[in-house]
Amino acid sequence: MIKRRKTRTVRIGDVYIGSDHPVSIQSMTNTVTADIPATVSQIKRLEKAGCEIVRVSVKSPEDAKAVEDIREEIGIPLVADIHFDHRLALEAVKRGADKIRINPGNIRRKDHIDRVISACRERGVPVRIGVNSGSLTESASGKGKPCDVMVSSLLGYMEHFRKAKFDDLVISLKSSDVETTVKAYRLMADECDHPFHLGVTAAGTRDNGIVKASIGIGSLLLDGIGDTVRVSLTAAPEEEVTAAKRILSSVGSRKFGHEIIACPTCGRCQVDLEPIVNEIEKALCGSRFAVRGSKKHLLIAVMGCEVNGPGEAKAADVGIAFGKGKGAIFKEGKIIRTVNADIAVRELMSIIEAEGKE
Ligand code: SF4
Repeated sequence: MIKRRKTRTVRIGDVYIGSDHPVSIQSMTNTVTADIPATVSQIKRLEKAGCEIVRVSVKSPEDAKAVEDIREEIGIPLVADIHFDHRLALEAVKRGADKIRINPGNIRRKDHIDRVISACRERGVPVRIGVNSGSLTESASGKGKPCDVMVSSLLGYMEHFRKAKFDDLVISLKSSDVETTVKAYRLMADECDHPFHLGVTAAGTRDNGIVKASIGIGSLLLDGIGDTVRVSLTAAPEEEVTAAKRILSSVGSRKFGHEIIACPTCGRCQVDLEPIVNEIEKALCGSRFAVRGSKKHLLIAVMGCEVNGPGEAKAADVGIAFGKGKGAIFKEGKIIRTVNADIAVRELMSIIEAEGKE
């Protein structure tokens, strides 16, 4: 069981983050926000995939105004991402944004920040201060290790919020470099008790990006650090949600349906295991990790031979270990039946279905 870093709780719409609240999943739209039908349609797809908080970029007055109509159509909290122009933040808050994200690198005038603080305070809207290594000021960038610079830049910016007695804050420190990201969050964890939004920025295309995000976000989650996550991918935003679910599930932070463990196969393998595992995974995880008809989380082992297979199958809730032309089916550590290999998957699936409904 991961011991979470103690934080204060922040409410974003009807989602609570920090403290012992579940680590929530975020993503970001890539539509023009002012194109309301396209933005709403993408958010609805994200919701269906399991996104719990969505961010939209607000780069024009039209985008800021659109927040109101979008908010009415969707069922998850909406975060307005603001750069450079504090007036866009004011308009987005007025139009019902549930959280504002600003970057210390590009809204710097204290009177502008004060106006944003006042508007957010008045409406109970939290602010995420998100430092990105790529948007540090030139003078700050040359002053030491990137992780130290990110943390000191953030602390300097937060000081203004502290003086204004505004502490409804969420923090992020993202770099495209995994080590810098992890070190920055670890350093920052000793400096404040605000919830952290985790991410490795600009992680890249789906496969490479998931590896980077898994290492970065996964390491921090295992340290107990992190209260919301976004897996930044150059891919459809729904992919980010699926990846986030897999990361949270892999570190044991949250469960999303059944978990399948499968052997990598070797020369001892008695069946063509890959299509079998794919078939089981597809049947169980058809809707982006939302398990059909399952009320509980099962650990399911699918193993290719009788050498190492039985050990893993015994340790799982339900499992199968193939032998020559046969499959031994396990439930709660015991073989409950041995069947011909050609009907073994069907048998396993009927047991999983019965178990899942209990
Ligand atoms: S379970 Fe058997 S087939 Fe699978 S990798 Fe291990 S030894 Fe090889």
